Amino acid sequence: MIENRTIGEKYFTLLDAIDEGFCIMELVYDKPGKITGLVFREVNQAFEKQTGLSNVIHKTVDELLPDFEQQWIETFTNVIKTGEPRRLENYVKDTNRWYNIYFSVFGGGKSSQLVAVVFHDITECKRHEQQQEYLLKLSDTLRSVADPVAIEEKISRMAMEYFGTDRCYYCTIKEGNALIRKDAFREDLPSVAGTYPLIHFTLLKKMVDEGRTFVVHDANTSEMPDEALRKFCLQLQAISFIYVPVVKKEKAVGLLCLIQSVPRRWEDMEVQLAVETAERTWAAVERAKVEEVLQESEENYRAIVEQSITGILKVNLSRDIIFSNEQFAKRLGYSIRELTSMTLDDIIAEEDLERDKALFGRLIAEGKAYEIEKRMKRKDGSLVWVNNQIAPLFNNKGQPQAAVDISADVSRQKAMEAQKDEFISIASHELKTPLTSIKAYGQMLEEIFEAGSDAPNYGFIKKMNVQIDRLTDLVYSLLDTTRISGGQLALQPEFFDLNVLITQQVKEMQRMAPKHRIIFRASELSPVFADRDRISQVLSNLISNGIKYSPKGGDIVITAKPKEGQLKVRIRDLGIGISAEKQKDIFERFFRISNEATRSISGIGLGLYIATEIIQKHGGVLGVESKPGMGSTFYFTLPYSDNKTEDNL
Ligand code: ADP
Repeated sequence: MIENRTIGEKYFTLLDAIDEGFCIMELVYDKPGKITGLVFREVNQAFEKQTGLSNVIHKTVDELLPDFEQQWIETFTNVIKTGEPRRLENYVKDTNRWYNIYFSVFGGGKSSQLVAVVFHDITECKRHEQQQEYLLKLSDTLRSVADPVAIEEKISRMAMEYFGTDRCYYCTIKEGNALIRKDAFREDLPSVAGTYPLIHFTLLKKMVDEGRTFVVHDANTSEMPDEALRKFCLQLQAISFIYVPVVKKEKAVGLLCLIQSVPRRWEDMEVQLAVETAERTWAAVERAKVEEVLQESEENYRAIVEQSITGILKVNLSRDIIFSNEQFAKRLGYSIRELTSMTLDDIIAEEDLERDKALFGRLIAEGKAYEIEKRMKRKDGSLVWVNNQIAPLFNNKGQPQAAVDISADVSRQKAMEAQKDEFISIASHELKTPLTSIKAYGQMLEEIFEAGSDAPNYGFIKKMNVQIDRLTDLVYSLLDTTRISGGQLALQPEFFDLNVLITQQVKEMQRMAPKHRIIFRASELSPVFADRDRISQVLSNLISNGIKYSPKGGDIVITAKPKEGQLKVRIRDLGIGISAEKQKDIFERFFRISNEATRSISGIGLGLYIATEIIQKHGGVLGVESKPGMGSTFYFTLPYSDNKTEDNL
């Protein structure tokens, strides 16, 4: 209540009505003019509400707020001396509150020793500000630390400082254990970092099981779930504490603990802040763990890519190189920087470029990976053979968006292959001359003995000539392979009647295959334009394979029909058949299927390789349809121009 001694009656109601605290204070002096204290002279109604202090009139500040008198005396003296008002923000420890205070000289000019003080409680606002500051600092810290343990350590320390506790730690709950990796604690206390099996640690277990925030103001008096727990807390000197479990999918996965060895009245805001801290810690630790795993896996991949002896490139769909590993750059003699400003077209030899581009086009259109042996150009212009696998990388719509290009240097193998080819070429040439003479003598002898009466020797000579023919075929096959790899397989096309050729072949082969029936179902055909001998060679190979690989006999059926501007010849047997995964390989040079069924069948794996080359050179394709145990149908096509196609026959 304002006494109207100092304030006129008319202000009385006004000052009592405002909700800010108001008081008039006076500086009191002893005789020699030394200030002895500050005395409350008048207060308004809100004063008590704002300060919690009552009956203060005529009392000194020293009596009520001992921490403050000296500081305020200085402010007062200053205000009185200068006549200038002052505004301060003060924390008053005795009331544990913050105030915004405005001091001004009251009344009669310079001689006045009265100061009017208007103040209001800004504690809530101040706490909110501090909380925001703390949360901001927390976020900054969490952002800058990547290691999960360091996060736990920093947060424990920050929270301990902010809450002013004796101990703080965050533990991870995992497989029945509470793991405290780093804790913060008052200097005179020991660390509690370690692994605690929950079954042995009642307090922790209780918190984890209950999964709710646990606030104890004073373990001596607060309600505790049970007496044993109270004793345990007292023993640990955990007199007041907040335990905040972090619960995910109904399971506690972490626990933030703020512990004080003296009783403490935790405010709601503090508890809320502790919950926020626990959640943020968990999120940051989890994120850091994921990042750690990601980083580790990235390091692994990087090491694999960098240390790999294969060359690895990434290219975009325009074939620009966007990544190269060290090995690839080294192989071509470029720096990685140089390579990443080039395209695939700059490093592929002209001879192989078109083929590679066509396959790359298919990769984009159909998302198909491909494998190719090609030559790449080094920076110095020399060439290097590589075996190259190119696979598409898809975007999230499943469309190719780039490609990885993995290549191994096969120059050495290529050089060895060339040597081998050269050897085969020389050897087969050297064998050809004596073999031709032997064959001629053999035929002469056969004719002589055919006319004579020495039937047993005639039989031997005939057998000898069959073997000489086989040997000749073999030598010619070897010669053909060297011609193919040297690009020297030349064709001499002419018009001829394919039906006649097949009929002759069938007749010849039938003589040697009494167990089989070779059937030719002819169609009316116009003459074909092809290399007669080479087509004969293909037919002979396919029919003899049909015979060889159907050891139990059965019909071999041959058809030759025009279809869609092509001529399609099919040779079907009822033999052992070929599994799907081997059907691609059998056209490779020297490839033979080796299994129980083929063990006793002789051959060197060149027939289909040569036949494929011959047919491709004619612009056709050679292929197979087969199922193991169900026989095989080999077919080849030849370009064919005629009006009499199958459709209008
Ligand atoms: P070769 O018969 O001399 O081994 P080829 O190049 O003619 O060589 O054939 C390659 C492989 O393909 C053979 O070893 C065989 O395993 C398989 N093959 C070829 N033709 C047939 C067929 N008609 N039936 C089953 N397998 C076959």
